[in-house]
Amino acid sequence: MCKKNFINFDKIRDLAFEQGFCDVGATELDKVEGDFFEQWLAKGYNASMQYMENYLDLRKDPRLLSPDSCTMFCFLMSYNDERVDNNSQYKIASYAQRKDYHYTIKEKLRNIISKIEENIPSLQAIAFVDSAPILERYWAEKCGLGWKGKNSLLVTKEFGSKVFIGEILCNISTDYPERTINNHCGTCTRCIDSCPNRAIKENKEIDCNLCISYQTIENKEPIPNSFNTNNYIYGCDLCLEACPWNKKAKKIPNQDTEVKELVCTTLEKIEQNKFEKGDFNKLKKQSPINRIKYEKLLSNIQACRTTLPSQPEQH
Ligand code: SF4
Ligand code: SF4
Repeated sequence: MCKKNFINFDKIRDLAFEQGFCDVGATELDKVEGDFFEQWLAKGYNASMQYMENYLDLRKDPRLLSPDSCTMFCFLMSYNDERVDNNSQYKIASYAQRKDYHYTIKEKLRNIISKIEENIPSLQAIAFVDSAPILERYWAEKCGLGWKGKNSLLVTKEFGSKVFIGEILCNISTDYPERTINNHCGTCTRCIDSCPNRAIKENKEIDCNLCISYQTIENKEPIPNSFNTNNYIYGCDLCLEACPWNKKAKKIPNQDTEVKELVCTTLEKIEQNKFEKGDFNKLKKQSPINRIKYEKLLSNIQACRTTLPSQPEQH
């Protein structure tokens, strides 16, 4: 427990809502309980993502990232707005139909840090969004913001699982009321049943080798011929769309409409075989699609075409 610095949790909640987050929680830092991550690695479910085997000590104990830190604040940002597919046969995951969350959320977290610093000049804080060896969903669950669904994603009662998670690790304590939430998956298996290549395994584990999201983004090699992409050329929403908690989740107003329009145009151009590198460059400036190269996107399109009714090749 940090002795020197304290902030009322109500203040953090106000700052979070001001920045557009839909929920926030906090937890005292400690070692991660259990060895679920190591077990997942041992099965080879991280596929070619060898970087996930690095910094295991930090993943197990985030206090090593910042020795004076004592609290992890976890912030949720819903992206449950309208997705666009424009009647295209090709699909892009809904989280990529908006500005890159790595930047937008980091900026919001930094705004919160600046506001806290106005009252606590000795604040030491680091903001993370999918950017450090932090087991984000574990910490969000520990804060009582949701539970780990069978598809390994954080599921919340109010906002479903279309939520980005950001964290602030810092040297201040707070009066966050302990919040625990039960797992509400029950006997439901809809996410498991919806996954075309059976990537969702026992114990809420994903075998990334079989996951469309991995194959279309993280796998730098072409997608194997036998693999079913379900016409996704970037990411996958199938298990999210299947989840009953997403069906009843609060919708948020449409965000980043200019990116959505660009996604629409891109899908149209792919459909008409008119998609070019210039189109890709425009898209990658705006959306998280910047994680892959033009050539990888073309190869993803080609992988879909092997399973779609015959179409001319993309050049
Ligand atoms: S993202 Fe798609 S492929 Fe991956 S586990 Fe979910 S349904 Fe399966
Ligand atoms: S689809 Fe069902 S099992 Fe899967 S995360 Fe949602 S509630 Fe849980």
